[in-house]
Amino acid sequence: MNFIKFLISHVKKYLIAFLHLVYPKICLHCGSTDLIKFQVLCPNCYAQLPFTDFFEIENNNVDKIFWGRLPLGPSGAALFFTKNSIVQLLLFELKYKQNKRAGWLLGNMIGWALKKANRFNEIDCLIPIPVRKITERTRGYNQSLIICEGIAQVLPIPILNAVLFKNKKTNTQTRKDRIERGHNTDHLFGLKNTDQIRKKCLLLVDDIITTGATVESAGRCLLQANPSSIQFAAAAYTLS
Ligand SMILES: [Zn+2]
Repeated sequence: MNFIKFLISHVKKYLIAFLHLVYPKICLHCGSTDLIKFQVLCPNCYAQLPFTDFFEIENNNVDKIFWGRLPLGPSGAALFFTKNSIVQLLLFELKYKQNKRAGWLLGNMIGWALKKANRFNEIDCLIPIPVRKITERTRGYNQSLIICEGIAQVLPIPILNAVLFKNKKTNTQTRKDRIERGHNTDHLFGLKNTDQIRKKCLLLVDDIITTGATVESAGRCLLQANPSSIQFAAAAYTLS
């Protein structure tokens, strides 16, 4: 009996050591082992993050992107994105390194920022901006859904993942995309189960906002189901 206990404790020890090798629990940016929630950053690197405070600010830079383009409710992004920054690192880990913890952390930041602001009190559901099925298969998940999960940990709002979907790339789209990149986004998305969002206040969620073309296209698509309003949140905003 004792031998079995001894064996189990040993196997457990080796397993933990092995997992530590595969998924090292160190700060992504500086390598410190002193880590905060979700174990991706240390308190020092977290404190360096460039928060925008956009969610609290009316007519912020993200709101302005959609003026004259889409009747959108209050919008915002949690962080400023710059090249070679901790923010870029977090997004890279989430998108290309199967690191969901980075996404949950980003989602938590959005959640806390929304809670602090007074402009986002009526959200009924979270809608992640979808990726194509093929991208989801290679990546393992849709990164915006992981961010939604992080938001929902702070604000218990249901995530609707089966309403908005991204259409397959057609040949004409591929060709047109190459010629006028970003300008042919009208048929990017489709809708299912529209009853779930009728007369509802939606929070559309994406990892990063740049030109707003994707959000504009997704928003247009969602408007067809007559939601009461569409609000938007991104983890990061690029200074252009
Ligand atoms: Zn660090």
